[in-house]
Amino acid sequence: MIDMKNISKSYQVGTEKLQVLSDICFSVEKGDFVAILGPSGSGKSTLMNIIGCMDKPDSGEYYLDGHAVHSYPDKKLAAFRNREIGFIFQRYQLIPKYSVLQNVIMPLLLRGVSRREAVRQSMEQIELLGLAERLAHKPSELSGGQQQRVAIARALVGDPAILLADEPTGALDSSTGKEVLQLFTKLNEMGNTIIMITHDLNVAAYAKRVVRIVDGRLYTNQEA
Ligand code: ADP
Ligand code: MG
Repeated sequence: MIDMKNISKSYQVGTEKLQVLSDICFSVEKGDFVAILGPSGSGKSTLMNIIGCMDKPDSGEYYLDGHAVHSYPDKKLAAFRNREIGFIFQRYQLIPKYSVLQNVIMPLLLRGVSRREAVRQSMEQIELLGLAERLAHKPSELSGGQQQRVAIARALVGDPAILLADEPTGALDSSTGKEVLQLFTKLNEMGNTIIMITHDLNVAAYAKRVVRIVDGRLYTNQEA
């Protein structure tokens, strides 16, 4: 599903070049559940942005679902991202003025799916995540755990190739965080491929496999 070869990325800060990712090689099979574990500032979000086709590496090759996305022009990359990646963020990033249904349906409408089909698919995800009683609620009328479940429903609609979660429990108390992680386990058992980024070893433990990132270099568990 994912094959990365020698991915490097730096940022220009004033006159200095800050090397953030160095020669990252990383593969993920369909159906996997991988945690990328690393301390703050190690390059996790930068790597997530590249995996999620929100940013491009300076050098290296990235194949997603057989497509050489490192050589895609920006517009094509954005369209590909909308189809292939479901994002889940620490702060949910729901649209405050939209209801649960409006938030979940939005990616489908943006992709040009008919309203009738979009409602059907959104309802299916909303029911799967136990939010059927909350359809008309706005995010501010939901608990943190419920908001994250809405964000997960939104990430799942349209059946993306990869679910990509950056610190998905970072804003939740520990018991709610645990529920979200158990939900990830269930979604992975249902066949979803999940990549989760975290600084917390207890969170990473829910994944089938853990890789570590330290100072922009990636290590499998054996090496770290
Ligand atoms: P993490 O998510 O592991 O905390 P990040 O990928 O966000 O790490 O950041 C890695 C390093 O790159 C940090 O030193 C950060 O300050 C720097 N960095 C991140 N984004 C930018 C940017 N847009 N411009 C310059 N430096 C950045
Ligand atoms: Mg980060």
